[in-house]
Amino acid sequence: MRIKTILNRVQRLHGFVYARAMMLEEMGRLIIEAEIRPRAKSRPICSGCNRAGPGYDTLATRRFEFVPLWGIPVFFLYAMRRVDCLRCGVLVERVPWVEGKNHLTRTYAWFLAGWAKRMTWSDVAAAFRTTWKTSSAPWRWRSSGASSTGRSTVSSRSG
Ligand SMILES: [Zn+2]
Repeated sequence: MRIKTILNRVQRLHGFVYARAMMLEEMGRLIIEAEIRPRAKSRPICSGCNRAGPGYDTLATRRFEFVPLWGIPVFFLYAMRRVDCLRCGVLVERVPWVEGKNHLTRTYAWFLAGWAKRMTWSDVAAAFRTTWKTSSAPWRWRSSGASSTGRSTVSSRSG
């Protein structure tokens, strides 16, 4: 079964498609990278007001960590677009798989949060080789409003 098929089954992304997925070796470990592209003719969603607007430009490709498959780390690759919003000015688009400037996808953050109910946060971070802070727990996203800017307290250890 192709990795793209699995991803489409477990994590459909409204307005986006998996362009290609590949397994490769990075610093002595296997990883899976899945490139994401916007659907043809889709307009980016402004992270300030949640409305679609004309594209302004495209930023450098970022990597977002998804739930590992068979213990193999999975990363989404995507170049965020900026929106030239009539109301808000030029802002980075909102995408369905990540909150603000996090490196962890929402799905992975909730996955880790589930484990954090059974063991300590530092045990979870060690078990999944990921560093994160309780301040970036997914249940805090809602209480902090639009939360599209400023928080980058979640990062993952490479290697
Ligand atoms: Zn806006």
